[in-house]
Amino acid sequence: MIGAVMNAVAEPVVSVGADAGVDAPRLREIPYNYTSFSDREIVIRLLGADEWTLLDELRGERRTGRSARMLFEVLGDIWVVERNPYLQDDLTDNPKRQALIVEALRHRIAEIEKRRQAQSGADPDRDAKVARLVASASRAIDRFEASFPETAALRKRTRRVLGRHTHRDNIAFDGLARVSHVTDATDWRVEYPFVVLYPDTEDEVRGLVEGCIELGLTIVPRGGGTGYTGGACPLTPRAAVINTEKLERLSGVERIAIPGRAEPVTTIDAGAGVVTRRVMEAAEREGLVFAVDPTSADASCIGGNVAMNAGGKKAVLWGTAVDNLLSWRMVTPDAEWIEVERQDHNLGKIHDAPVATFAVRRLARDGTSVISTETIRVPGARFRKEGLGKDVTDKFLEGLPGVQKEGCDGIITSARFVLHRMPPAVRTVCLEFFGQVRDSVPSIVEIKRYLDQGPAARSSRASSTSTSAT
Ligand SMILES: Cc1cc2nc3c(=O)[nH]c(=O)nc-3n(C[C@H](O)[C@H](O)[C@H](O)COP(=O)(O)OP(=O)(O)OC[C@H]3O[C@@H](n4cnc5c(N)ncnc54)[C@H](O)[C@@H]3O)c2cc1C
Repeated sequence: MIGAVMNAVAEPVVSVGADAGVDAPRLREIPYNYTSFSDREIVIRLLGADEWTLLDELRGERRTGRSARMLFEVLGDIWVVERNPYLQDDLTDNPKRQALIVEALRHRIAEIEKRRQAQSGADPDRDAKVARLVASASRAIDRFEASFPETAALRKRTRRVLGRHTHRDNIAFDGLARVSHVTDATDWRVEYPFVVLYPDTEDEVRGLVEGCIELGLTIVPRGGGTGYTGGACPLTPRAAVINTEKLERLSGVERIAIPGRAEPVTTIDAGAGVVTRRVMEAAEREGLVFAVDPTSADASCIGGNVAMNAGGKKAVLWGTAVDNLLSWRMVTPDAEWIEVERQDHNLGKIHDAPVATFAVRRLARDGTSVISTETIRVPGARFRKEGLGKDVTDKFLEGLPGVQKEGCDGIITSARFVLHRMPPAVRTVCLEFFGQVRDSVPSIVEIKRYLDQGPAARSSRASSTSTSAT
């Protein structure tokens, strides 16, 4: 398989878009660059920014044809492996093939060097630039060659360290797992994850975080991968994506006593990996409403909903995730358990509450005994920007952990939400707006306020309007 796509030593491949003899500008000269990275970005990543400048200067002289093409072939071969985890798997399993590729790369660089030496003296400045590029490319090949044993060693260590906290099958390095976790709904692709972890239970998460810290891996939590901000996309080749899909414990509807309210309240408790739609259905079966209803509900997960403070159509009535959260558990980036509990839930939109109070409890390693408690009090209005469902510009939210943080301050492992009851009757209004969305939103808010006033207030307002009109 590899042999079919890699350049053979004896037969240099003509660059993508290259047309021998035609003096037309070529969009991409690095072969196999079917990625979203430009040639410039690839050269900078593999050789460095100064080398890109050098290469550009040499190409400006238009005397580099054959050598430049061979250099691009070297970069193309390295790049195609770096961007294809299936090729990496294949090479990792076949040391002989690895050696052949490295040999082919070195052969090309040796050819460039031979040509340089043959022409040296004619133009010392140009000669020095080519020598620098040859040296950089040789170092890139060294790194490429070293990457295989380094990766193998780190994989072995990772299996050993993380294997203490989860089943070995939950630690995945294979191409399919890595390709499936390189991006989210943004389709932004920067780095493939080093490893993908699939904890079986909430309890495993703390140990996995601790293990990743020991291994020097950057942790990226992931739910359904429907996020539109790129938050689940790894940005470093040493990233561990923690996929929460197996954390699918769902309590069913529970009426429980909650802090600050005399009467029990209907709630539901869900593992971070429960698909949002499942929670909505569980509530509906009891004639209740789970108000966190993003359009992506068939694929998004509860942890992702909390981390993004998601909301959908019902946000108009009951707000987004933050309004409906009663409590949640998470593991901080320093591998500590915390549990956050709202102390004064108003069973409505959080910005209608003068103050929202949260108890943040640090728990022992067992995830149950409380070590310390901190209280966060936030004026309800601070959670919203006037007229907006959620204020995406404010990630901090007065330091409230987990919510709207895109996974940056820890991994949510489960969350409990309040449930609502739909009014006994529903009427639908169909409105059509023309022009800009920004103009329609205030109208919707105004219509909603008007309807909220109730029939008596509406009829008195209508009669005063008609009086003033006459
Ligand atoms: C078609 C479509 C429609 C959408 N409609 C809406 C909508 O109506 N309303 C809305 O608000 N959004 C919407 N979204 C955006 C997206 O679905 C939501 O943000 C959703 O909450 C993301 O959940 P997820 O499980 O897919 O998260 P992911 O995409 O997996 O992750 C999103 C972010 O959350 C972090 N994260 C995931 N799980 C955890 C966890 N357990 N702990 C900590 N951090 C975590 C990730 O690291 C990442 O930063 C839509 C997206 C699509 C593709």
